[in-house]
Amino acid sequence: MTQLSPVLKQATPVVAVRGEGLHLFDADDRRYLDFTSGVGVTSTGHCHPRVVEAVQRQAARLVHGQYTTVLHEPLLTLTERLGEVLPEGLDSLFYVASGSEAVEAALRLARHATGRPNVIVFDGSFHGRTMGAAALTTAGTRFRAGIGPLIPGVVVAPFPAAFRLGTDLGLSEEAAVEYALRGLDHVLATVSAPAETAAMFVEPVLGEGGYVPAPPGFLAGLRERADRHGILLVFDEVQSGFGRTGRFWAHQYHDGVVPDVLVTAKGLASGYPLSAIAAPTALMRKAWPGSQGGTYGGNAVACAAALATLDVIRDERLVENAAEQGRRLTDGLRKVAAGAPVVADVRGPGLMVGNEFCRPDGTPDPATAQRAQQAAAGLGLLLLTCGVHLNVVRMVPALVVTAEQIDEAVALWSKAV
Ligand code: PLP
Repeated sequence: MTQLSPVLKQATPVVAVRGEGLHLFDADDRRYLDFTSGVGVTSTGHCHPRVVEAVQRQAARLVHGQYTTVLHEPLLTLTERLGEVLPEGLDSLFYVASGSEAVEAALRLARHATGRPNVIVFDGSFHGRTMGAAALTTAGTRFRAGIGPLIPGVVVAPFPAAFRLGTDLGLSEEAAVEYALRGLDHVLATVSAPAETAAMFVEPVLGEGGYVPAPPGFLAGLRERADRHGILLVFDEVQSGFGRTGRFWAHQYHDGVVPDVLVTAKGLASGYPLSAIAAPTALMRKAWPGSQGGTYGGNAVACAAALATLDVIRDERLVENAAEQGRRLTDGLRKVAAGAPVVADVRGPGLMVGNEFCRPDGTPDPATAQRAQQAAAGLGLLLLTCGVHLNVVRMVPALVVTAEQIDEAVALWSKAV
């Protein structure tokens, strides 16, 4: 009998047969409160009626028209509509099907455009599992071990993980930013000279690296160095984008800082495989024709799902809801943590919330984090872990989550912890 690969490790034993809003149901119709959203993907909840309707309509008209052969209406309309939410100046889009593919597209563009070989990434980064994206990933050896050699030219600089640097080195948030920027300057002076450096790739909120937001001043510091040295600044918002953090893009918490390339996926199409890079047309033009592409890139049904997702986000004010419910969630979780010192830090922003588990001496405690996550699953609350040491339990409910569902999740979490 064939079976799924034994290396596929599931965080929960659930076999889902249907989903509705914040809930998944198994074959016995047991209901689970889903605070994982398929790893931050089903932004409008499971099977939002407007997304379902758009997908059904599109599937009956045209499923696939590969963009190197024919263009189609959903692709063109989506390109126009994304202009309403993208940072000014990023007026050119290229579509592929997954986050990793989009990261690879940004990597190819950066090397083509600058003619430089190296890329700087930051401690705790996760950019995907394809060989280029895995090379950019430092959120734990599990993503890289035994698959190398990976692509050369990747250099790692410090990320100002305020909680960890505060716990380990006693640094304030401000001092952590200074420490990280000095580390970057050192990398540029000693390992990867600006003339050799094509781009810096950064997540405005580390995702798999533990839900760690970049503190104020860090992205501005990167922007300043990128401008000074002619290095491209790439924001990977695959996990943090599309309203997840209570702003449309997480980098909008950093006043006025705009990337040269923005990478988006996950929440973009409510669960349909679609990703994109956005950049100024003059920059996008510097990729060699034919160097970018993917058979399923810009799939018509996925584009229709993305268009419906944009409508739902606007009409149901989901970015505002993410900010409001995110505050309610972090407030509730902080109350739980106050009575459970093993949860050493609770942090947002928005609906991208991490609970970091530590031992009394401040060292990471993955065993207790994983036990709490399992206990929550037993109570019907689905959660995931993340972090370099897998000691962070993350909560990423769909942006349609209600105050009652937040309160229910906090109550279940309190029991689990
Ligand atoms: N970049 C970030 C920030 C991510 O969080 C992820 C996935 O979790 C990826 C890239 C890779 O995306 P995918 O799994 O769709 O290839």
